[in-house]
Amino acid sequence: SAKENGRNNFQFYTPEMNEIILEQLEMEKAMRHALEHEEFVLHYQPQVDLVTGQIIGSEALIRWMHPERGLVPPSQFIPLAESVGLIIPLGEWVLRTACLQNKEWQDAGFPPIKVAVNLSARQFEQANLVDTVADILEESGLDPQYLHLEITETLAMNNANLAIDKLHALKNLGVQLSIDDFGTGYSSLNYLKKFPIDTLKIDRSFVGDIPADSDDAAIVTAIIAMAHNLKLTVVAEGVETEAQLEFLREQNCDAMQGFLFSRPVPAHQLAQLLYEKKSLDTETYQHLPSSN
Ligand code: C2E
Ligand code: MG
Ligand code: MG
Ligand code: MG
Repeated sequence: SAKENGRNNFQFYTPEMNEIILEQLEMEKAMRHALEHEEFVLHYQPQVDLVTGQIIGSEALIRWMHPERGLVPPSQFIPLAESVGLIIPLGEWVLRTACLQNKEWQDAGFPPIKVAVNLSARQFEQANLVDTVADILEESGLDPQYLHLEITETLAMNNANLAIDKLHALKNLGVQLSIDDFGTGYSSLNYLKKFPIDTLKIDRSFVGDIPADSDDAAIVTAIIAMAHNLKLTVVAEGVETEAQLEFLREQNCDAMQGFLFSRPVPAHQLAQLLYEKKSLDTETYQHLPSSN
């Protein structure tokens, strides 16, 4: 981009570049419209305890129900929402919706589970994030211990000093903090002891080829052992096979999330899974049908 090329360089905008800019403007307009007209929806992917086999939480994952394009995945609009600042109202909507939904499940009588919400860099850096989270917790009535906030290593390391203060302020609200996509970002192991985090989520790029790939197997084993020594819990992302599950259980990984158990599903389908008390068969690692 022009910015990356430095301030002193002239930029010549070609017709192709104009087209891209116009497309982004259209997209931005469409996103603002979508926010007002409730075209966004959260899907929830269950997180399963590897010892009990029970659903202990879910991750809220946003989708856009586009009137023409159908269900649009976050990878196709979150980056733009981030760059034009729309991620602030959108992220607030996600937080509020996830907290209200989780409270609704608890009020319906299901055993309480946590809900994990992804924070973007811009959201995290926003001055009033802590107040926003506090307001939403109060408004929803959700017990803070059932809200998990996910940040990435890169986000936290961008401004480590600010991050430490902010993470402590969030912890003081009583919420839980997770490092998402662990192992893929710009990271320093030093922050693991400085940041008041509770959970590491092993990125699915390390999970996909275990146990066959001995490098990945070694990395996953080391992450789990290190996390446990630091008194952190570990969630493996992207678990798709019985063999991956078995390996993770052998390594005492705490919980998993992945298509093997369930894809991210609409709220009513997650309620159905809770209602059925759907669980991992911890004896045989029996494959459960996904609900989507
Ligand atoms: P993430 O937070 O790491 O979420 C996990 C992603 O992995 C989800 O993709 C999920 O559908 C996918 N996944 C889960 N299990 C499996 C599996 O077994 N196999 C495979 N191949 N994939 C699996 P999704 O929903 O497309 O979200 C992608 C990313 O978009 C998320 O990665 C997160 O970084 C971002 N995102 C999603 N919702 C939000 C949101 O509300 N706010 C923000 N800021 N970012 C969000
Ligand atoms: Mg996440
Ligand atoms: Mg992740
Ligand atoms: Mg990710």
